Amino acid sequence: MTHPAQPTASHFINGEYVEDTAGTPIPVIYAATGEQIATVHAATPAIVEKALASGKAAQKAWAKMSGTERGRILRRAADIIRERNHELSVLETYDTGKPMQETLAVDATSGADALEYFGGLAGSLTGEHIPLGEDWVYTIREALGLCVGIGAWNYPTQIACWKGAPALACGNTMVFKPSEATPLCALKVAEILHEAGLPAGVYNVVQGMGEVGAALVTDPRVDKVSLTGSVPTGKKVYAAAAADMKHVTMELGGKSPMIVFDDADIENAVGGAINGNFYSSGQVCSNGTRVFVQKGIKEKFLARLAERTGNAVIGDPMDEATSFGPMVNENQMNIVLGYIEKGKAEGARLICGGARCDMPGWYLQPTVFADVTDDMTIAREEIFGPVMSVLDFETEEEVVARANDTEFGLSAGVFTRDFTRAHRVIGNLEAGSCFINSYNDAPVEAPFGGVKASGVGRENSKEAIKHFSQVKSVYVRMGDVEAAF
Ligand code: NAD
Repeated sequence: MTHPAQPTASHFINGEYVEDTAGTPIPVIYAATGEQIATVHAATPAIVEKALASGKAAQKAWAKMSGTERGRILRRAADIIRERNHELSVLETYDTGKPMQETLAVDATSGADALEYFGGLAGSLTGEHIPLGEDWVYTIREALGLCVGIGAWNYPTQIACWKGAPALACGNTMVFKPSEATPLCALKVAEILHEAGLPAGVYNVVQGMGEVGAALVTDPRVDKVSLTGSVPTGKKVYAAAAADMKHVTMELGGKSPMIVFDDADIENAVGGAINGNFYSSGQVCSNGTRVFVQKGIKEKFLARLAERTGNAVIGDPMDEATSFGPMVNENQMNIVLGYIEKGKAEGARLICGGARCDMPGWYLQPTVFADVTDDMTIAREEIFGPVMSVLDFETEEEVVARANDTEFGLSAGVFTRDFTRAHRVIGNLEAGSCFINSYNDAPVEAPFGGVKASGVGRENSKEAIKHFSQVKSVYVRMGDVEAAF
C-alpha cells in the first residue's frame, strides 16, 4: 500500500514512531482482495517496557496541566482528523475492509467527536464542596494514572479515540494496543494527537496479539484497563486486572434483541433491522441479532426485509456506491460460515443469503433466517457477522422474558407506535444501551456499555469521566479536635 496516511513504523512511543523488527511479523491483509498491504511487528518485551515507562513518566506533568490546556490539544486533534477525513477513511477501509460509504461518515468522524467532546469537558472537571456546619469536606477529581486500552478490530479509529479521549481529558496517560487484525489506524490517532501538541509519552500505541495485551494488563505500573473485545477475553482480562485491584472498563459482546410489535411502522422496523445486522457486515457488538417479530406482521416484515436486503451493493469498498463490504479476515468469514451451516442444520428457514459471495476477498452474503427458535445456536451465540435471526412472538410478557433469557446485556430495541408500551418494555429489558424506533445510534453524548456478561463501566458521555478518574475526599475541621483521652 502506498498511501499518504500510511503509518511509518509499528509502534508509536514517547512522541515518535518506533520499530523493532525482532517482534513477530503481523501481516496486514486487505479484506477486499486478500492481498497483504503492510506488515507490523508485535511488541517485544523491550517495546512494551519502553511504552509503559514513557506513559508512567509523562503522567504527572500531563495531569498538572490545566484541564483547559489539555482539552485544547484534544480539540485541535479533532480538527486535524476532520480535515483529513478522506485519507483517514481510506486507511480505515484498508485496515478493516469496511466500505468508504461507512468509513467516510462514521469512523474518523466519531473519533473526532470523542476528542472534541472530552476536550470540551476537560476544563470543567471539578470536585465538590460539602458543608458540615462549621467544618466541610471537599473532593478532588483526580486522574487514575497510567491506563491501558485494548481494542477490537471492527472500529479501530473509533475505539482508539473512545478510550484515549476521556482518559487524557482526565489527566491520565495511555498505552493502547489495537487488535492485531487492524493495527494501522490507532497509529494515526497517536501521530495526530502529537501533531496537535500532545506531550511525548501521553498516548502510546504498541502492536501485538493477546500476550502483549496480557503483559500490559499485568504490569504493576498500570492503574486501569479498558478493553473492547469478546466475553471470553473480557473474563481473562478482568481477572488479571483484579489481581492488582486495577480499575476496569469492559466493552464486550452481545446477542441483543430487537422487538417489532404489530403496530410498528414496518419500513422503519426493517430499516432498523438492516442497520442493526448488516452495517459493517454485521461486525458490530451492539447489533440486534435476535429480531423478535409479532406474528401479525411477520410475513409482511420478512417480505420487505428480503426485498430491501436484495438492494445491498456488494463490491469494492473503495467505491462509494458500495454499501456492503467483506468480513475483516478469512478466519472471521469461516467462523460466520460455520454459524450459517448450523442455522440450516438446526432447521431455521433461510430467507436470503446463506453463502460466501463468488468473488475475491472475504465477502459473505447478508443472510436472514426466519422461524428461529430460542434454543438454536444462531439465537444464542454471538456470530459477529451478517446473520440475522428472526423469531416469532405473540405477547409482550412472553417477548420480554425471552429477550432477557441470555447471558448478554449490551443493547435492546423496540419498534412500536404505542409509546407507553415502548417505555414499559425498555424498562423491563436487561440491557445497557437501548433504542426506541431506532437502532445502533452511538452519539458521544450518550453513555454506551452493557450489563450482565456484556461488560462493566460505560464509554462516552459524562459517565466515561467517572471511569477514568477517582475522587479524593478531604475533611476540613475548623475547631479543636476532641479526643477520648
Ligand atoms: P477479542 O476478544 O478476540 O480481542 C480483543 C482484544 O483483546 C484484541 O486486541 C486482542 O489482541 C486482545 N486480547 C486477547 N487476549 C488477551 C489477553 N489474554 N489479555 C489482554 N488482551 C487480550 O475480540 P475481537 O475478535 O478482536 O473483537 C470482537 C469482539 O469484540 C466481539 O465479541 C464484539 O462484540 C466485541 N466488541 C465489543 C464492543 C463494545 O463496545 N461492547 C465493540 C466492538 C467489539
